[in-house]
Amino acid sequence: MLQNIANLLQILVAAGVAWFVGFTFALVIWTFRDIQTRSQDVVVQILATLWVAVMNLPGLVIYLILRPSSTLVEAYERSLEEESLLQDIESRLACPTCQQRVEAEFLLCPNCLTQLKRQCQHCSKVLLLRWNVCPYCAHEVPGATALPAGDGRHTEEAAPARRLARSGSGVRERPLESELTVQPELARERR
Ligand SMILES: [Zn+2]
Ligand SMILES: [Zn+2]
Repeated sequence: MLQNIANLLQILVAAGVAWFVGFTFALVIWTFRDIQTRSQDVVVQILATLWVAVMNLPGLVIYLILRPSSTLVEAYERSLEEESLLQDIESRLACPTCQQRVEAEFLLCPNCLTQLKRQCQHCSKVLLLRWNVCPYCAHEVPGATALPAGDGRHTEEAAPARRLARSGSGVRERPLESELTVQPELARERR
């Protein structure tokens, strides 16, 4: 009878030890995988894993408190998000005359009435002022400056600033080289 109880105790202790070893092993594996997603520093990875291996469950609690809050993937995604936000700011267009913000589809600056783009009379797409032909429907753009023969350069420099016929309306047309510019102060925000 006493022998039986001793045997049972032995089995229980062995099972407890086996469970503890397995549990510790699982903790160490989990910690190693977790720290790998959060730090590329091999020293940090080894220290964190050893820490949990030695300290077991209390060590894991402390590790959970001290570990880097975001994984490398999360940090990467956040940096991508920030980058695209910055690009958004940088790609915002400004009127070349009054520097007010304008949209890419604007034909006129709503603030100072500078002509920014023109509309294809055939397909109604928005065209850059320097385009001689509509790239969407291949219709020629009346009033656009033609390239001088034999000169591959853009005509922008040569062409005088063209004014709209109805100058009395206050609508001005900028010289063609005045492509929409990015606001310099917006570009500087990036730094
Ligand atoms: Zn303007
Ligand atoms: Zn067109």
